[in-house]
Amino acid sequence: MAIDNFTLVAASGAVICVLGFVLFYMWRQDRSAPWFGWLGLSYVLGASAAILLGTRASGPTFVNTGVATALLLLCFGCMWTGARAFERRKAVWWALVMAPALWLSSFLIPDFSNMLGLRVVIASIPASTFLLLGGLELWRGRFEILPSRKAAIAFHVSAGLFFAFRIVSVGALPFPLGGLSIHPLATAAFNFITFVHAMFLTVLMISMTKERRESTQRTLAESDALTGLPNRRAFATEAERLMRRQKYNRAPLALLILDLDHFKSINDRFGHDAGDRVLVEFGAVLDGALRRDDFRYRMGGEEFCCLLPGLTIREAQATAERICQAFQATTVEVLGGSVRGTVSIGISSTDICGYVLEDLLNEADAATYEAKASGRNRAVVAIAKPMAPATPLLGNVTDIRVAKLRA
Ligand code: GH3
Ligand code: MG
Ligand code: MG
Repeated sequence: MAIDNFTLVAASGAVICVLGFVLFYMWRQDRSAPWFGWLGLSYVLGASAAILLGTRASGPTFVNTGVATALLLLCFGCMWTGARAFERRKAVWWALVMAPALWLSSFLIPDFSNMLGLRVVIASIPASTFLLLGGLELWRGRFEILPSRKAAIAFHVSAGLFFAFRIVSVGALPFPLGGLSIHPLATAAFNFITFVHAMFLTVLMISMTKERRESTQRTLAESDALTGLPNRRAFATEAERLMRRQKYNRAPLALLILDLDHFKSINDRFGHDAGDRVLVEFGAVLDGALRRDDFRYRMGGEEFCCLLPGLTIREAQATAERICQAFQATTVEVLGGSVRGTVSIGISSTDICGYVLEDLLNEADAATYEAKASGRNRAVVAIAKPMAPATPLLGNVTDIRVAKLRA
């Protein structure tokens, strides 16, 4: 059974229209995802344009070609705005309105409706631009890593290039692929290409939305609400991965366990809120003392942990001492006066424990215990063999703990 072109256009138009309403519904259900609204609007406009274009033989040219193509341009403009909305950027209303308005004003050119080639060029330029801009918006947001992002960019770019291709093939291919007299095969091909792009773009936008949500939930589950630092759960997933990476690269990994001193007494003297502020301030001290590639975690209560990839035990010791000094020098102004705290730090490294996370934690834990026992406000290194003590800094005595020798 042969299917005529009108049936084909009407069928794909109907599917796109239904898809548009489904996307509208998704937006109504979740107003935090306005891109679904834009994409839905885009598809309803596109389907309306397809119906008008499909019936152009029986209607006035200005409506069935002029208005229909203006709707189509608005449809691509809405797709671009959808991509902008996904990147939390506002709509550019003037650009949205200008493209269809310019197109419609072209009808003022005498005999414009009979110049098929010129019409194809004038309509394809904004269509291609809108689609490529949509890809550009998603590319600009590439630092938010979403597995479907690359494919969504690729489909925007491929759709944009398809319309750009119409411009170059205007004198070589039949309408609607080019500007020569219309041919049913060209209509079928045009229809198929736009339909496939619309389907994939919808699926990819839905996937990216889902991936963004999952990533946000994961971040929330893995971060500490008070300090904003990653929590123990994040440590559990990242530490093993980091350990494997360092082992593979034959590079060291140092671990610090940091426990604030007499923190209970801060709470008792100044109140729980003041204690909370000290914890937040300590997070800021860590930020200031560590490199961008170092990892910091709030393990719970007033206990923190840092993973320092690539640092020798000496360098980790220097870092820990910097943290001790910086925290000791930090004053937190609270209602009842000003609070100052100190911290005890235990240091371990793969250099002495091997690449076993549990051993690294146990050694650092024991070193922290020793830092507490020997007077607090200091950094203690777990080492396999005695090494010369580091120069004491501003009263932070660096203790050397002789750890069990490991085979
Ligand atoms: P040490 O020097 O031996 O570590 O003594 P410490 O007082 O710091 O340790 P201890 O374990 O006795 O007390 C820890 C306190 O930390 C008890 C708990 O109320 C307090 N704490 C735990 N989590 C929070 C929090 O989120 N906010 C506040 N303000 N206090 C907390
Ligand atoms: Mg503690
Ligand atoms: Mg403590």
